[in-house]
Amino acid sequence: MSWGSARAEQVLGPGFGFAARGVRALAWFLAFALNWASAADQAAPQPQLDLALDGEVSRLLRIGFDKPDKALQGLQELRRQPLQPQQLGRLRLAEGRLQVLAGNLEGANASVAALARDAWVSAEAVKLLQAEIQERAGRTGDAADLALQAFRGLEPACPAAGAAVTPQAMAACDFRLAWAALRVLGRSQLKEGRLPVALATAQRSLGLAEAGGDDLLSALSLGQMALLEMRQQRAERASENLALAFKKAQGDALTQAQLKNFEANLAAAKGDTRGQLKALEEGSRLAQELGAGRLSAQLLSNQADAYLQLQQAAKALELGRQALSELLRFKDVRVERSTRLNIALALIQLGRFDEARRELARGSALRAEQPDQGLRALELQELGEAWARAGQAKEAIALYHEERKLSADLSARNREAELQLLKVKYDSDRKQRDLELLQRERSLVDSQLQNRKLAQQVGVALAVLLGLSLVLVVLMVNRVRAAQKRLKANELLLKAQSERDPLTDLANRRHLLAVMAMQPKAQFSGALLMVDIDHFKHVNDEYGHGVGDWVICEVARRISHAVRSVDLVVRWGGEEFLVFAPDVSQEQLMQLAQRILDEVAYLPVQTETGPLRVTVSMGFAHFPLPPAMLDLHWEQAVNWADMALYTAKSRGRNRAMGIATVDAGDANALMQIEADFDAACSSERVRLVEVLGPVAL
Ligand code: GH3
Ligand code: MG
Ligand code: MG
Repeated sequence: MSWGSARAEQVLGPGFGFAARGVRALAWFLAFALNWASAADQAAPQPQLDLALDGEVSRLLRIGFDKPDKALQGLQELRRQPLQPQQLGRLRLAEGRLQVLAGNLEGANASVAALARDAWVSAEAVKLLQAEIQERAGRTGDAADLALQAFRGLEPACPAAGAAVTPQAMAACDFRLAWAALRVLGRSQLKEGRLPVALATAQRSLGLAEAGGDDLLSALSLGQMALLEMRQQRAERASENLALAFKKAQGDALTQAQLKNFEANLAAAKGDTRGQLKALEEGSRLAQELGAGRLSAQLLSNQADAYLQLQQAAKALELGRQALSELLRFKDVRVERSTRLNIALALIQLGRFDEARRELARGSALRAEQPDQGLRALELQELGEAWARAGQAKEAIALYHEERKLSADLSARNREAELQLLKVKYDSDRKQRDLELLQRERSLVDSQLQNRKLAQQVGVALAVLLGLSLVLVVLMVNRVRAAQKRLKANELLLKAQSERDPLTDLANRRHLLAVMAMQPKAQFSGALLMVDIDHFKHVNDEYGHGVGDWVICEVARRISHAVRSVDLVVRWGGEEFLVFAPDVSQEQLMQLAQRILDEVAYLPVQTETGPLRVTVSMGFAHFPLPPAMLDLHWEQAVNWADMALYTAKSRGRNRAMGIATVDAGDANALMQIEADFDAACSSERVRLVEVLGPVAL
């Protein structure tokens, strides 16, 4: 552990932050006096930030590191000028920061309360002051948080890193406050060992200082960068940065003295103890010349540390004591504590153990004010080693045990903190997992419910569909049936119509064909009566076709009336009718013929032109023809009836001629008779019976 570098941070720390900020009022006064004199007529807008006043405040803060009273006095002088509320607020802020530098944290806290009520003071300014208070009180974590908040609030008004810098871009950029915030933040990062982050912070602070044109702030940023590069084993870059820092600090001895501390650190890191001591000596001499007692004391303390490393205890003791006498004027507890430690270490090396113990007892009182256990552990380690080297085993062992206990406490606390963090994380993870599980479960139940609902809906839909389909099918089947029925009926009707004579409504020839088709083809059996109206031409000619039709209809009706229900009456031709009596004896046949003759002719037909006497002639036969009862086709049978009709006509009409017997042994004989029916009748090969129609009334 290098006490030298630890102290170097301390040297840079408070002085810097505060020195960088500060005197707005005077600068404002001067700047505005000039501005208004030269450009009042241009009505230029008043800059949001009074950079001139800010520069003056910055100077006072730098003085304040070593001479807080003098700086406060300077502030009072600035406040005597006529000030705008914003400028007054700025001076009050500087006052608070000077109180921190002077170690007056109570006063600084009162300033925080007052500034927080001042509407002209930004929240970021208050945060920065709070950060500096916390840092001075050794609470670097809180300090870093506040500093970061302040920086985040201030940064948006400033040009981004690497962006072009114009006066307009800088008009609202409170770069010195932002710089100071980064400084607090960077120191915390360095303490945590986050070197690359701390380097980036320092680079950003350099950017702001450059943009604001403040060379001294730039120099300090570069010095910090040099230190950080060195810590990261980049000696070349560290040297470059340091050289640049000195260049920027030209003409400002105080800043140069501060940079000497960085130079010493760089040399120490290279193992160049001579170079380290040389730089520290030059720095402290410069600081003494400038009356910068505190800086000088810190540099002396660092020298004491270097001499301790070189085992030059007497020199270390001398320098430590020198530093302490200066430091007591400031309430810089941290540096005082490390200085007292160095003195004690020197005394141990010199074998002046009692004096060392007294010094350590004084140091322990300071520890109460700075309960930094990390620091304490390092102190114990160094002390333990020193006691051991001095052969003081008892002290060495006691310190060793204390250091072990502290380290154990520390690690236990760290472990506890980590465990707490883990527990919180675990709890939140578990809660999250439980929540996720619950959500998953809920969404599962939801989806199950939805599925069930969907299934129900599908089921209902299917049932409805099925029902509808069934109804539809039933309807369709009914329709089809009805259609089939209608079709059948139509078919029957058509069939009936096609087999019916439209004038008389009797069956026609087609119907007879259909009926005959059902009979054995060449074995016609039953009786046939062929009926023809007598002298019908005369009716037509005399009374016209209408009356003729009427007469045909009436004759048809009378024949139908005369026959039995089993007999079929067919309109065979114009005024010819064929009666088929399927089941009738020879006797019954003659009676049937008689009834027809009588029915037609007995009463005159009433026509529109008056009553008309109508008679019919008829030929009939019973098949098969007796006695041979030869098979014959129905059409042949019709021909035989027709031939008999012809005979009835020739014998005077209004009568019926029936074929009683035919003398034919075979089909050929029948055909010969057919060929000359009349001759066969004459030769009595065919014997006929005659039925006479009624005598006219
Ligand atoms: P016959 O006593 O020898 O039978 O003498 P006819 O005058 O009845 O002679 P025929 O049977 O040869 O003549 C039938 C006539 O009937 C011929 C035709 O003009 C007429 N006729 C045929 N069909 C119809 C019809 O549907 N309506 C009318 N008004 N006349 C018909
Ligand atoms: Mg005829
Ligand atoms: Mg006729």
